[in-house]
Amino acid sequence: MYNADMKLSNHLPSLTAEQIHQLDRLADLFLEWNQKLNLSSIRNREGVLVKHILDSLLILPFGLIKPKDRVLDLGTGGGFPGLALAIAYPEANFTLVDATAKKISAVQDIIRQLNLKNARTLTGRAEELGRSRQLREHFDVVVARALAGFPTLLEYCMPFVKPRGKFIAYQGPELAESWMEHQKVAQELDSRIVGSKKAILPVENAYRCFIVVEKSKTISEKYPRRTGIPKKEPLA
Ligand code: SAH
Repeated sequence: MYNADMKLSNHLPSLTAEQIHQLDRLADLFLEWNQKLNLSSIRNREGVLVKHILDSLLILPFGLIKPKDRVLDLGTGGGFPGLALAIAYPEANFTLVDATAKKISAVQDIIRQLNLKNARTLTGRAEELGRSRQLREHFDVVVARALAGFPTLLEYCMPFVKPRGKFIAYQGPELAESWMEHQKVAQELDSRIVGSKKAILPVENAYRCFIVVEKSKTISEKYPRRTGIPKKEPLA
């Protein structure tokens, strides 16, 4: 059961009152859009605060995102984790991408209503945008939550990461111990999984983990493969 009085400020001590206010408004705007479009199965306010907003911000204590970073949220859906991160890191620049245009139009409207100056959106597929000159190897940090299975995720995300930049995968607890199994795929993409960080989602008391993958150098032109292939034939 959720506590109807759940206060974000109790869980996010490093944020200002203004940032907490913005996150509360984000929850309201997301709920409004979720009635019009099917953005998420989570339809109550406490659920959005915990499973979308707090979950997105579990990464904060690890210091993995730096103030001036260029950050990509790939497969942002209704805007998570990208919108919450853009509020938490006002000096970093965020690009939120999704293949579904109507989701991106909702996210764009939320950005406008929140007057977020450090976030922009793009509609497109990872396999195509990952080959665009403007986006390939352009980001200090790429994040993704609930986008694809891990090998597919690596092929989608690593092309966007600058050499020496990193990809941070939002994961459930499963991969916390077993990420080593994917090191070969990371190597094929000129990257290395450097470790995992564990976190606990408040209220739900559920385990989460972040898998951190560093890119060592420019990756082969082979990747990403054509649309649909990374998912149908994941690298192994
Ligand atoms: N990150 C959000 C949404 C997860 S659902 C959250 O955690 O709440 C996965 C999203 O990824 C969907 O919105 C889907 O449209 C998008 N997606 C799936 N495959 C994609 C691809 N190849 N390129 C871009 N977006 C993709």
